[in-house]
Amino acid sequence: MATLPSTEPIALTEPARPSLIGLSRDELVAEMAAFAPAADRPKLRARQLWHWIYAQGATDFSAMTTLSRTLREALAQAYDLARPEVARHQVSTDGTQKWLLRFADGNEAESVHIPESDRGALCVSSQVGCTLTCRFCHTGTQRWVRNLTTPEMVAQVMIARDSLGEWPTPADRRLLSNIVMMGMGEPLYNFDNVAKALHIAMDKEGLGLSKRRITLSTAGVVPMIPRVGRELGVRLAISLHAVTDELRDRIVPLNRKYPIAELMQACRDYPGLSNAKRITFEYVMLKGVNDRLTDAKALVGLLAGIPAKVNLIPFNPWPGAPFECSSAAVITAFADHLSAANLSAPVRTPRGRDILAACGQLRSMSERVRKAASGG
Ligand code: SAH
Repeated sequence: MATLPSTEPIALTEPARPSLIGLSRDELVAEMAAFAPAADRPKLRARQLWHWIYAQGATDFSAMTTLSRTLREALAQAYDLARPEVARHQVSTDGTQKWLLRFADGNEAESVHIPESDRGALCVSSQVGCTLTCRFCHTGTQRWVRNLTTPEMVAQVMIARDSLGEWPTPADRRLLSNIVMMGMGEPLYNFDNVAKALHIAMDKEGLGLSKRRITLSTAGVVPMIPRVGRELGVRLAISLHAVTDELRDRIVPLNRKYPIAELMQACRDYPGLSNAKRITFEYVMLKGVNDRLTDAKALVGLLAGIPAKVNLIPFNPWPGAPFECSSAAVITAFADHLSAANLSAPVRTPRGRDILAACGQLRSMSERVRKAASGG
């Protein structure tokens, strides 16, 4: 019998069991091939697990009735299916929901569900904090912390589906019908983890969100845009917000690295564009900054020849923000100018402003609550 040296601290808690959530299909097969009780038929076992995890939303191996009791028990000893902790869950008066997730290392990120009558989009975060420092974005004023892992992004989808009661994954009408990679962070600075998470989300035998229902938004990391098209084929959104390099350099500093002309070329080259599959250009309406009719005119010129639509986003204010939102009349005139040039230009109604869930507002509240709690 081994005796413990008395000077060594004794670990009182069991090490956490590894989670199966966030493994790719191939990784799950490999995991089962190495897992003794399932090793004889790893592909079949992986497929069964995939179904229970991603189509049925199982949080417990005991529910997996297509597996033998012995295997279920062995899996439960070895693995975990738990979601990250939901540190805060808020519901807006307009039905928008926001989850603040706390991960194992204590870091937090938010996801937002925006319901429509018979469908809805989940806005998924890709990083804790952001490095881009866009001047109008509250997340950008907060500290950069780290990339989210694949399981942490997949868990955002699983938790939303848990809350919405959408297990087993409904075939048609469902409130989580779309994913927008528009939460905190720049997804193209975390491409590998994002790509892996989206492949899991797109799997037909699991979460089943097709690539036509997924939109990835970038501030313009030009060299990564072709890979989004080639490897994921999802819809692309570009946070444009300005029509000259002079202004865009100031409000989206990433523009100094990848100026507008290069960005537009990457958009023109994006594979599979058509009238049915257009690029969305996001344009935040900032009073007296980018909202003149000459800007609208230049925008029409810039987008000529690209299957495009423009989302005009009324600026969502936050404490200390150096901008104001354009007036309703100015936004309408801007939108009318684009429409007259045959550019579809819906004005995006802000959703969930009362719970700080609107664009550019994420994590601001949790950050403030934390500061208040620590007396900072
Ligand atoms: N980094 C990616 C993903 C973030 S998406 C990107 O930049 O596209 C979040 C969207 O909300 C972006 O279009 C962003 O520019 C916009 N946004 C940020 N702050 C905002 C604010 N205060 N009001 C309105 N829109 C804002």
